[in-house]
Amino acid sequence: MNIMLFGAPGAGKGTQAKFIEEKYGIPQVSTGDILRKAVADGTPMGLEAKHYMREGKLVPDGIIIGIIRDRLSEEDCRKGFILDGFPRTEPQARALDQLLGEMGKKIDVVISLNVPDSTIVDRVTGRRVCTSCGASFHTEYAPSKKEGICDLCGGELFTRKDDNEETVTKRLVEYHSQTAPLFDYYKKEKLMEELDGTQGMTEVTRKIFEILEQKNKEKS
Ligand code: AMP
Repeated sequence: MNIMLFGAPGAGKGTQAKFIEEKYGIPQVSTGDILRKAVADGTPMGLEAKHYMREGKLVPDGIIIGIIRDRLSEEDCRKGFILDGFPRTEPQARALDQLLGEMGKKIDVVISLNVPDSTIVDRVTGRRVCTSCGASFHTEYAPSKKEGICDLCGGELFTRKDDNEETVTKRLVEYHSQTAPLFDYYKKEKLMEELDGTQGMTEVTRKIFEILEQKNKEKS
């Protein structure tokens, strides 16, 4: 199944993508994770992207589309994938349609995690991410059992450079102006499933699995 998770930064896309990945054995494709790795490795792409990310701005479409083209052609995406944080602009959505068309694939479902801005800042500023497996925690709402250590793999937790109030506010502006309009596009295509992302994490996961089971049934 080819799944797209849609929603503002901090809506829970990455957290839920990990659960889906574990249950269905299809990979999470997070453009944010790929970019952070490129920045950490100091690749030319990372050097170019770094400045935009620190500023809470979107990285240019050309870079992002190139990343997705390469990643979706990899062997592990053959059975399906979970898009997390892509597409974020109209040209990205168009490029995705074209790419999937070339590959003879399509998106089966778009799941939108709806969370109001007032909740987002709180969520993002308390977020802690594992340096090793990328799992997310929250200092207050979903703390790791041992402070600073990932429950899943024992890796060290860190705070993303762009997870501060000032940058999150800018990321939300980008989200509302560039990404939110895509909602209507996927709704028109009858792919959109909406969930209240403010419910507890386990409840959101349960509802996502319900949607995916239903889609699986419809497919077979
Ligand atoms: P994320 O981890 O999805 O919150 O992404 C972190 C940052 O990476 C964003 O604020 C952007 O600067 C950049 N980024 C990630 N995905 C995209 C995308 N699809 N288009 C443009 N910029 C992106």
